[in-house]
Formats: sequence, C-alpha cells, structure tokens
Amino acid sequence: MSYIGILVTGGTGLVGNALQKINPDAIYISSKDFDLTKEDEVISMFEEYKPDEVIHLAAKVGGIIENINHPANFIRENVLMNTLVVDYAYKYKVKKLIGILSNCAYPDVAKSYPLREEELYNGPPQSTNFAYAYSKRILGVQIESYRKQYGCNFFCVIPCNLYGPHDNFDEKQSHFVPALIRKIQDAKINNKKKITLYGSGKPLRQYMYSEDLAKILMILLKKYDGEGPINIAPKNENPSISEIAKIALKATGSTNIEIEFDKSYTDGQFQKDLSIKQLTKIIGDFNFTPLSEGIKKTFEWYLKSIVTYA
Ligand code: NAP
Repeated sequence: MSYIGILVTGGTGLVGNALQKINPDAIYISSKDFDLTKEDEVISMFEEYKPDEVIHLAAKVGGIIENINHPANFIRENVLMNTLVVDYAYKYKVKKLIGILSNCAYPDVAKSYPLREEELYNGPPQSTNFAYAYSKRILGVQIESYRKQYGCNFFCVIPCNLYGPHDNFDEKQSHFVPALIRKIQDAKINNKKKITLYGSGKPLRQYMYSEDLAKILMILLKKYDGEGPINIAPKNENPSISEIAKIALKATGSTNIEIEFDKSYTDGQFQKDLSIKQLTKIIGDFNFTPLSEGIKKTFEWYLKSIVTYA
C-alpha cells in the first residue's frame, strides 16, 4: 500500500490521542502495530505507509520514581527508537519530521530563566532523569546532523510538562498531575480527609494541556521549515507543585481535602520554565488552556475511564 500523508508514532499515548481528536485522518501507530526498537519493524512501518510527514512521539515516558528505578530501560528503548525512526525517515525520503524532546533535557541548573533553546546542552541534566534526558539530547543531535549532512527538513520541539485525557494514571508510573487526580478521586471515594504528595511542594512546574500541544504541532507541521529546536509552553505560567495541587482541588470540587507533603521523597529539578519567544515569533499569540480548565476536563475524562474499565 502506498500512502501519502502524516504518520504519527506513539499515536496511542497522551499526545497521540490529542492529535487524533484534531486530525483523525493521519496514521496513528502504537507499539502493538510496530515495535520501533526493532529495525525490521521500523522498515515494515515505512514500507507499508511511505509517509510524507512524520510526527515522532513514540518514547518510553515515566514519572520520577520510574526514571530512578529503570534508567537502563529509558536510555536503551528511547535511543533505539529515535535512531531507527529518524534514519529510516531519511531513507524513505520523508519530507518533514518533528522530533519531540522534553524540558527534562535542559541542564539541571541554568544561568538564567526562562530557559532559551541555546541553553539545551550547557550543563548536565537532573540526576533523577539522567537517562531519559540524554536520550532526548541525542535525538536533538541526530536531527540536527541529518539536517546538516543530508538537508532533511527535520526539526525538534521541546514541550514543558504535559497532562490531559488518556494520560497514564498508573500508581507507579504516572507523572505528577495524573497521580494528583488519582489521589483526589481515591480520597473522595474513601472519605479520606488528606492526600499525601511526594517532595516539598516547592518546585516550580509549567504544565500544558495535551490538546494545546497537538494544535501547535499541526501549525508547525504546516508552516515551519527552520532548524529549531522550539520550546513549547504556556505563556507566563510557572506555578509551584503546591499551587497546582490547590488549583486541582478547586477544579475537582474537593477543597475539603487537605494536602500533606512527604519530604522524604526527592523534589527533582527545582525549575525548568521555558522561554517561548521563538514560538511566538513563528505562530503568534496562542490561546493556552488555563490549568484549572484543563485539570477539570482531565478529571472528568478520568472519572469516565474508571467507570468504563471497572
Ligand atoms: P505516552 O502517553 O507515554 O505514549 C507513548 C507512546 O509511545 C504510546 O503510543 C506507545 O505505544 C508508544 N511507544 C512506546 N514504546 C514503543 C515502542 N517500543 N514501539 C512503538 N511505540 C512505542 O507519551 P506522551 O506523554 O504522549 O509523550 C509523547 C512525546 O512527548 C514523547 O516523546 C515524550 O517524551 C514527550 N514529552 C512528554 C511529556 C509529558 O509530560 N508526558 C513532556 C515533554 C515531552 P503503546 O500505547 O502501544 O504503548
């Protein structure tokens, strides 16, 4: 079969589902269709679809505990997937590819904030997600190299932390926002007065609703041909973990629940807020979903999903 169009790897995850909502006609690939850590399966994917454009979302992604406990899995799976997908996108003459890095790839401590794209390699990343961060930096270097040597129209974006429907709410693997939503709902069901969050609550975190990232990726795919990388994050937002927890309690109608912080857990990186000067130059002002609205929608989706899968 010869198909001309957009192919999305990692099409069944948080961002993939958001893209499916706004652009249902693309091809969405999961690990069950093709295991992208295996060269023969990557070749089969490109052979079957021969896409014009690729949004490469597929990655091993996880919260802080998962990153601390399984660094070898993070570096192995992500480096294999990225290396093979970018290499075969070049060999199959893909006209445009977007690679997705992460704010975790930035240095743990930078000279100034918000972080600008040119700071990406200026210092080691945070130790808690060292392997994931380096796999993202290597993807950035690979894409830049293929652009330089072969003239490929490939570039990277660097999103801040994400949340939304279809996120991973698993107790051991989830990121902060889905873990928070799960704990709030658990407290509601079991009439608990308190929820416990890991760390001090002081670190600052920019969070973006997954559908906002999906819309921006589609705009960039249409109108950007530069070399990137491009930071993507909501404008002027950088609340603390503790403030985000309060916003979530209000958005879910749970202000009667108290929050306690377990400081025996590590905080991770203190801040990693991104400058969006470059993004704004390219796409103009974007109407980002406020955190309270995005958390409310995500909570509603979570309630439906636990009823559906119960
Ligand atoms: P996600 O929800 O964890 O989804 C990961 C996707 O990758 C799934 O579709 C999964 O397929 C696929 N995948 C994993 N291993 C694979 C393999 N061996 N072969 C083929 N496909 C595989 O991830 P996400 O949160 O949507 O993240 C999308 C991208 O944004 C990633 O590159 C991530 O690093 C980046 N990012 C995420 C965040 C965040 O806060 N979530 C922040 C910054 C950047 P299955 O469904 O079959 O498992």
